[in-house]
Amino acid sequence: MSTWEDKIRTVVPYVPGEQPKFPGMIKLNTNENPYPPAPGVQKRLKEMEAGMLKLYSDPTASELVNALAEAYELPADQIFVGVGSDDVLSMSFLTFFNSDKPILFPDITYSFYDVWADLYRIPYRCPALDENFRIRKEDYYGDNGGIVIANPNAPTSICEEPDVIEDIIRNNPNCVVIVDEAYIDFGGTSVRPLIDKYENLLVVQTFSKSRSLAGLRIGFAMGSKKLIAALSDVKYSFNSYTMNYPSIVLGAEAVRDREYFIETTQKVIRTREETKPALAKLGFHFPDSRTNFIFAAHESVPAKEIFAALRKENIFVRYFDKPRIDNYLRISVGTDEQMKKLLAFLETYLSEKHA
Ligand SMILES: *Cc1c(COP(=O)(O)O)cnc(C)c1O
Repeated sequence: MSTWEDKIRTVVPYVPGEQPKFPGMIKLNTNENPYPPAPGVQKRLKEMEAGMLKLYSDPTASELVNALAEAYELPADQIFVGVGSDDVLSMSFLTFFNSDKPILFPDITYSFYDVWADLYRIPYRCPALDENFRIRKEDYYGDNGGIVIANPNAPTSICEEPDVIEDIIRNNPNCVVIVDEAYIDFGGTSVRPLIDKYENLLVVQTFSKSRSLAGLRIGFAMGSKKLIAALSDVKYSFNSYTMNYPSIVLGAEAVRDREYFIETTQKVIRTREETKPALAKLGFHFPDSRTNFIFAAHESVPAKEIFAALRKENIFVRYFDKPRIDNYLRISVGTDEQMKKLLAFLETYLSEKHA
């Protein structure tokens, strides 16, 4: 290899779910919300003038931060916003995980964590979830360089109760604990109130799932003033204008419509609860999801085969060819109509398999 090639930062990138575009397809592979964003978002979008785009966007994203501050009853200096929670999480790894000791996250979790750790050369260790994909909190008691936990976890869909998360935080006063709550709005209990009690707790959420704005790329973190100030210093050392103007103003509109937010998240929850028994009847088993997806394995047909069969029908779900989870499908909760079509196809397909 030439000498310049030795100096390249090499990393194996995260692979997101595909974004196919077939007419009439049923897209249940990336946990997007099946409902459109709040009506105020559409209205503001129509009123938006291209002339605004000649200016740099507000580096403090104050309209969005203030809307979040009001919605979550927090001072603005306890909120940090970024380009999707991926950006917020990546920035948090860079800011908070600067130890020779390994950071900890479960063996089965959001598959971006190990990519950021590799990218920033942060050592890490992945304690195994138990046989039911539950966190063993004792695994997180020892000396470490930081902790990141997705709750509810992805792709398992399992939500731990706040006391489990608090126990882990309480046992780790010497490092930053990041709780990634990407799916918390679908029935889990947020540990956000604990940020007043633990200065080292950072809670990260996203607009991509519960607020139907995956395409705008908005995520945010809530934490002590000290954590948020440190994150902001790193962000301003990286790129002052991470949030673009449309994201700031349209995101703020989404946050202001609390009623629509509750209505649509409740609709997704209702559809999920109706889908569970229907999948069970077809021979699937799955952890009790408190997210907008179901992580299901079939009693006799391998997940990989079902995945391929669904694909042929233009029904897209997610399959992870990874140890311990390679017989599961991650199925996003769509509209009632989409789920009906999915279930109807599975019923026919599985009965033909057994015939
Ligand atoms: C979807 C997801 C994210 C990233 O969402 P953004 O679109 O970047 O806001 C982060 N963590 C988990 C666990 C997710 O599932």
